[in-house]
Amino acid sequence: MNEFELIRQYFQRPAPNALLGVGDDAALLLPTPGKVLAVSSDMLVCDRHFFADTDPYWLGHKALAVNLSDMAAMGARPRWFLLSLALPAVDKDWLARFSAGLFSLADAHDVSLVGGDTTRGPLNLSLQIIGEVAPEQALRRDQARQGDDIWISGYPGEAALGLRHLQQMLTLPAAHLDLALQRLQAPQPRVALGLALAPYSRCAIDISDGLVADLGHVCAASACAAEIHLAALPRSPLLHSVDVDLASQLMLAGGDDYELCFTAAAGHADAIGSLSRQLGLPLTRIGRIVAGSGVRVLQADGQPLPLVLKGFDHFG
Ligand code: ADP
Ligand code: MG
Repeated sequence: MNEFELIRQYFQRPAPNALLGVGDDAALLLPTPGKVLAVSSDMLVCDRHFFADTDPYWLGHKALAVNLSDMAAMGARPRWFLLSLALPAVDKDWLARFSAGLFSLADAHDVSLVGGDTTRGPLNLSLQIIGEVAPEQALRRDQARQGDDIWISGYPGEAALGLRHLQQMLTLPAAHLDLALQRLQAPQPRVALGLALAPYSRCAIDISDGLVADLGHVCAASACAAEIHLAALPRSPLLHSVDVDLASQLMLAGGDDYELCFTAAAGHADAIGSLSRQLGLPLTRIGRIVAGSGVRVLQADGQPLPLVLKGFDHFG
């Protein structure tokens, strides 16, 4: 099978969102009038972001999910994506499962694969995604304001718990293992939440590198500080099986969660509570934006947590 047969067989699909999709020198896309484009790229490298033996179906899912999560965090509607693949060899079973996982999530979010590049090399997946948002509705890191509440979706720390299990740093009870691995390998990007936040929020980030680290980026961009309350963090039932210090560490600095952290004026709390019920997604108020800089985690007695928490940094 040559390169072009491979592309045709596994990656060329009808692209209803595009005037012209895979197969020419470039795709032709028609943006919606009045919207701006939100453009982002995320790369998954074997042995760094995933293990070589990861089920290719879920790898296809996750490669797109992490990019969809960036759209969610901008409040953008994802529409098109490109896939650049380096493959060590043509493995038909692997390609069939990978593209099945990829297109299953793509169909669920109505995004079209419109192009890419395919080359031989160490396994590496690079996706670019393009979405649309009204410029005044974009959820930007520089739009947090003093007095805003800080909210988080889902249960931070579950994916990191699954990773600790795979790394044999702990052993999860069988009853928790499936869900923890699902969080790690099959994250559900919060696109519907990102779109629904327009009336309430101007500022969001996805917590792929860990809550404290990512909230720190919001504080730096918005020139403010964040105070979060340890006791207010939504504690996953999965974290009950580990000791409290590790549970705190995973919730605050775990990473790979692809949940959204967003800010909203205090007056929107009830509406955000209704939104949570409507989406069937826990949304929890964990703190407040204040004057100053950096992120402080307050314990029940009001004292700051002394732990040094670092988010994931490839060069740190
Ligand atoms: P070019 O020679 O112009 O770089 P290629 O031969 O690399 O074009 O690709 C041919 C067509 O297939 C292009 O439309 C390109 O966007 C698309 N393509 C290549 N690899 C992929 C892939 N992995 N997924 C989706 N589309 C791809
Ligand atoms: Mg090419």
